[in-house]
Amino acid sequence: MSSQVESAQQGQYAAIGYPSRLVGRKQVAEGTMAFQFERPRNFLFKAGQFVDLAPLGARPDGSDGLTHAFSIASSPFAEEIVVATRMRDTAFKRALSMLAIGAEVRIKGPMGSFTLHNNVSRPAVFLAGGIGIAPFLSLLSYAALNKLHPPISLFYANRYLEDAAFMDTLRELESSTGNFRFVPTFTRVDNTYGGWKGETGHISSEMLSKHGFNLQGSICYVAGPPTMVSAARLALDEAGVDEDDIRTEEFAGY
Ligand SMILES: Cc1cc2nc3c(=O)[nH]c(=O)nc-3n(C[C@H](O)[C@H](O)[C@H](O)COP(=O)(O)OP(=O)(O)OC[C@H]3O[C@@H](n4cnc5c(N)ncnc54)[C@H](O)[C@@H]3O)c2cc1C
Repeated sequence: MSSQVESAQQGQYAAIGYPSRLVGRKQVAEGTMAFQFERPRNFLFKAGQFVDLAPLGARPDGSDGLTHAFSIASSPFAEEIVVATRMRDTAFKRALSMLAIGAEVRIKGPMGSFTLHNNVSRPAVFLAGGIGIAPFLSLLSYAALNKLHPPISLFYANRYLEDAAFMDTLRELESSTGNFRFVPTFTRVDNTYGGWKGETGHISSEMLSKHGFNLQGSICYVAGPPTMVSAARLALDEAGVDEDDIRTEEFAGY
């Protein structure tokens, strides 16, 4: 196919959505599922971006149009597009959970600018709340393959250990990726819970400074439900981070 035809098709699909299919799903934490979709031909994205996902014929009357935004959790080099979500009893998530393997969806995008900065001398501090881990997983998978990345620290807050999606993958990334530190924290547990010896409580300015991060000069990225994003922004503000150095992705709807 000529490159002119390909780019015309790309423009068309960017507007109406690329056709894709569900190829797999798996539970990644309690009440949390990851969905793998066929990667459409020519679908390029940057780690950290999101898509609008629409299962076809998913409305109760069989029509299309149910659409939700999801950060891409997979690497830009991966063969599949992976999204992850907390399953709830809502119209969209009922439709998603009922999708058969092979069912058609539309993927519109990619969108957003929650992408890693280029200046490798400025550390990156990632703050994730719950399913807000999704864009960071893509960013970290990309960094793992690209030796030239800034030092990265990830603080990852969940209520309980069993709510925390992708823990094994994150631990593997921690051991395989140079210049990456991983700090999980659990907000509803104390140190008597299941022998947990790590951090507990919400991400706070004290927690950030306790780990000795030099936040001045870092670029901070926050993703998660709106309440978590506001609280993390406050913690960064208290820690003296310049507002211009904070980038956020709010998972509106939680
Ligand atoms: C850029 C971006 C990236 C995102 N990435 C992700 C991601 O990676 N993973 C993810 O899980 N989510 C992500 N989201 C959020 C996602 O798009 C959904 O909004 C979210 O998953 C909630 O969907 P839902 O079906 O559970 O709720 P919805 O049914 O869409 O409900 C949305 C809100 O309306 C409220 N609501 C619903 N019905 C009613 C009613 N009848 N009366 C009153 N209130 C009601 C709900 O309580 C909720 O607060 C992202 C959002 C954005 C903007």
